[in-house]
Amino acid sequence: VAASGVRSVSVLGATGSIGDSTMDLLRASPERYQVEALTANTNVAGLAKLAKEFNARFVAVADPARLSELRAALAGTDIACGAGEGAIVEAAERPADWVMAAVAGAAGLKPALAAVDRGAHVALANKECLVCAGEFFMDRAAKAGATILPADSEHNALFQALASGNRDELTKVIITASGGPFRTWAAADIEQATLAQALKHPNWSMGQKITIDSASMMNKGLEVIEASWLFALSPDEIDVVVHPQSIIHGMVEFSDRSVVAQLGSPDMRTPIAHCLGWPDRIVGRAAPLDLAKIGTLTFEAPDYARFPGLKLAYDALRAGNGATTVYNAANEIAVAAFIAQRIRFGAIARLVEETMNSWIRAGNLAPLSCADDAIAVDHNARDMAAALLPQIAAKAS
Ligand code: NAD
Ligand code: MG
Repeated sequence: VAASGVRSVSVLGATGSIGDSTMDLLRASPERYQVEALTANTNVAGLAKLAKEFNARFVAVADPARLSELRAALAGTDIACGAGEGAIVEAAERPADWVMAAVAGAAGLKPALAAVDRGAHVALANKECLVCAGEFFMDRAAKAGATILPADSEHNALFQALASGNRDELTKVIITASGGPFRTWAAADIEQATLAQALKHPNWSMGQKITIDSASMMNKGLEVIEASWLFALSPDEIDVVVHPQSIIHGMVEFSDRSVVAQLGSPDMRTPIAHCLGWPDRIVGRAAPLDLAKIGTLTFEAPDYARFPGLKLAYDALRAGNGATTVYNAANEIAVAAFIAQRIRFGAIARLVEETMNSWIRAGNLAPLSCADDAIAVDHNARDMAAALLPQIAAKAS
């Protein structure tokens, strides 16, 4: 943080759901933040609007074909711009003290690493990049002196609760899951669920990919893996409990059997505000929590039979050696195929399982030590999942 007290910040994925919540917090205290860089995938108009509002120094779109459109949208300003994957990385390399990593999917890996490598404070919303590259991501952050601030609500809760004890005193962590829109559905109905049904999340308003992941509980699987890499926990130290109200986000159990929880309204602006203020606290923007009004908090065990994607996450973690990269890559292919109506909802987890099994049978498990390793596994696992797709699509459950 500069002596003036003004903090320079960049937001990767500024036009998305997390980007929107982040910009809302920045907008509330414009005197405290200088926006260095903002990025988007294809939404030039939305990006240019934010760039002008926040007087950003640099903006980038991932789609290289949209450079002239972006230039035109910024005409008359002195905002620099670029397009293409390299420009997104350049945005992350620019000297912001705090970076929100909120690109969706494994596409967020390279830009997140670019921010990590220059030792920034990185608020990490993009769980896929950690799942894809977890085996070296945290080491690389430690070597660069970067601070990873978990922005995912469950991990932010754990991060806050972990401060109540030390690593030797921790016995386990518990992350909560809303259970998604199909929590009470029979397996046969989940199998046939439509895109519109999968997109109706009971509690959270989020981007399309993570909303579908919440319906399949693959999101919770990704989060179990994310927690393992973020906090160096074994699979046995991570529990999931279904909590439909989404008020408790995460808990840490210590050796004396004290369980420390973080609570809040289901609004991503709370964990993002924690990351933005850290190590201090700033004024939040979510509605205050009114427990008397909520009345009841309930809990259930997760059902692996109806939500097999969650169990596969534990299998991938135990297999290690790139298996979580495969889990994520296959899921990204499966979700895209479901959105394109090429497979049924129930086939998402089947494609992930088949891809992981085929990958392991082919003897492809190997340690990942750098971004190129992770990107190669991600790429090859996507190809394998795409090749398995027709047979999974044809097979009735
Ligand atoms: P979103 O789809 O709403 O937004 C994604 C952002 O990334 C957009 O700005 C988009 O333009 C950009 N983007 C997409 N593909 C890109 C590409 N190939 N290259 C560069 N930019 C690209 O998604 P979201 O819901 O904001 O989620 C973002 C990330 O945060 C995901 O990893 C998600 O799992 C994680 N997350 C989201 C929430 C939430 O409440 N939305 C909660 C926890 C974690
Ligand atoms: Mg979450």
